[in-house]
Amino acid sequence: MMSWEAPLAQRVKNLKPSPTLAVDAKAKALKASGVDIVNLSAGEPDFDTPEHIKEAAIKAVRDGFTKYTAVAGIPELKDAIAAKLERDYGISYTADEIIASTGGKQALYNIMQAILDPGDEVIIPVPYWVSYPALVELAGGAPQYLMCSADDGFALDMESLKAMINPKTRAIILNSPSNPTGAAYSRKDLEEVSRLAMQHGFYIITDDIYDEIRFDGTPPENAVSVNPEARDRVLVVNGVSKTYAMTGWRIGYMAGPAAVVKATAKIQSQSTSNPNSIAQKAAAAALAGPQECVREMKKAFAQRKDYILERLGAIEGVKCVEPSGAFYVFPDMSAYYGRKHAGGTVSDSLTLADYLLESASIACVPGIAFGDDRFIRFSYATDIGVIKEGMDRLEKALGGLS
Ligand code: PMP
Ligand code: GLU
Repeated sequence: MMSWEAPLAQRVKNLKPSPTLAVDAKAKALKASGVDIVNLSAGEPDFDTPEHIKEAAIKAVRDGFTKYTAVAGIPELKDAIAAKLERDYGISYTADEIIASTGGKQALYNIMQAILDPGDEVIIPVPYWVSYPALVELAGGAPQYLMCSADDGFALDMESLKAMINPKTRAIILNSPSNPTGAAYSRKDLEEVSRLAMQHGFYIITDDIYDEIRFDGTPPENAVSVNPEARDRVLVVNGVSKTYAMTGWRIGYMAGPAAVVKATAKIQSQSTSNPNSIAQKAAAAALAGPQECVREMKKAFAQRKDYILERLGAIEGVKCVEPSGAFYVFPDMSAYYGRKHAGGTVSDSLTLADYLLESASIACVPGIAFGDDRFIRFSYATDIGVIKEGMDRLEKALGGLS
């Protein structure tokens, strides 16, 4: 028989799997095999989905709400999304300006497919969430990286941004508070970017998935809430995964100009159809129901953030910007590069993350996955006891380097 090497498209040969999901899968597999892993890798709240949300899903199953729905989502969910956006951003969206998708990730995928032609440029501030470059490239677009510095609290470098804008610029992605840094953009910077988008004619894709997990007292803000005139330039992405501890339910959404929503619905109709009907009912209950659970989870995240920052701050050579939100810290660990251990040398974020996994069974994500090799990302979306154990081990492992 002729040998068969399963030919694959160039598109997928160039594509790397999500490094955050890969590290998390490895950590979970090690744990299942009995290794005492401290998993500070994935951005997944450890809380259970609140009871009233689960009840809505159970009711949906019992009521036989188990059939195809409208591709862009059920009216009840769209109403709940519109009410959330009105409540938090003061912007009203009509049903044809909203589409529910299978996670914020699919909303982002659909947007890139809908707005990018080959060679179109998308500006991505660095450090970035791991999937942005891949999503742009899958649509034939060209990511353009805007370096941001920890010394400025990872604020946007406006002069560099202005210098990058050209006729091929189709969009910029803003993620505030950010995964992986936890940094939030200032109102002034959001206003400035919205003005640039209007002046030069590009989209702002605002990934607001961490908008309610914010510790600095600032209410949710994005490029359209600070400048409603920029409304037709802004594509709002959000979802229930993080705010309501619903990562497995897979409901996210996009709100923006009806033409873009219609285009993404066309893509969705030919690829995945509607997001899961039962999860849509649950997401509607999450967004429209009591919000006390969100406040409680946020309080826990704030305590964990303070604790992990204090511990990191006590380790020599580790520098960390205080996050304004989300549930990650992103310390600069490069002071340890060049140091040695029994099995070799720590030379970059990958070898440091490997060393921490091998020697201390700590799972974390190397900064290179987010575009900056000096850093390591620790997620603190886990129990404070686990964080304490992780920090004890980290201190010991770093102390073991010479
Ligand atoms: N954006 C950012 C910045 C994220 O961290 C995540 C986490 N997975 C997502 C989007 C997508 O989340 P989901 O698909 O679970 O809604
Ligand atoms: N966004 C989360 C993270 O960065 C979940 C994993 C993923 O979707 O990449 O860890």
